[in-house]
Amino acid sequence: MQLSAPSETESGARPVRIGVFGGTFDPPHIGHLVTAINVRYALSLDRVLLVVANEPWQKVGSRTLSSAKDRLAMVQAAVAAEEGIEASDIELQRGGPSYTVDTLQALRTLEPNSELFLILGGDAAAGLDSWERPDEVAKYCQIIVVDRPGVLSEVPPGFTAERVAVPRLEVSSTDLRQRAATAAPLQHLIPEPVISLISQLGLYGDEQ
Ligand code: ATP
Ligand code: MG
Repeated sequence: MQLSAPSETESGARPVRIGVFGGTFDPPHIGHLVTAINVRYALSLDRVLLVVANEPWQKVGSRTLSSAKDRLAMVQAAVAAEEGIEASDIELQRGGPSYTVDTLQALRTLEPNSELFLILGGDAAAGLDSWERPDEVAKYCQIIVVDRPGVLSEVPPGFTAERVAVPRLEVSSTDLRQRAATAAPLQHLIPEPVISLISQLGLYGDEQ
């Protein structure tokens, strides 16, 4: 499977190549942005969507999540200056638990002449088989995996993925929430407009 060369449809129109990078983004950070920007470059994608989970059902109950609205606002602030990288509210619009398979299906309907590339960090890739209707996911997209420091990124049996090398950044939202709570520096780990928004919205003050 050749991913780097954009293909042509029978009508001759080149399909729009869309990267779909889903997450909780609580908060978005440079690991997300560097991944989105570099996968876009490596695969000649037209756009990469940072798809904000409305209800990240695998995380619900494990900790207090910021509201979907606040997480979307942070992602919008994070990508505002980035060409070809967009915040997507498609899962907030749909409501309820956020299943990637539904999002891929909806994007195919919205953009019939498109090729979808699902971008996953290694930890997300390893858990693919725990998702809703995992068999269907691969029907709608090509799966792209990026390595994350300290994570063995194998896709479960039955899935085929292409690996894209991006600069590895050892940063996570979990660590950043803790940094925010202890007033440790966030500069250069989180885009500046997002840092302002975090303090404006009063997020992460009581994180343990
Ligand atoms: P948390 O620590 O709260 O789980 P996170 O940093 O893992 O947050 P998520 O919103 O859970 O961020 O992740 C969204 C997507 O981004 C996942 O596919 C995840 O693997 C990927 N990702 C997160 N951080 C990085 C990073 N530093 N490098 C590459 N991919 C990353
Ligand atoms: Mg995560």
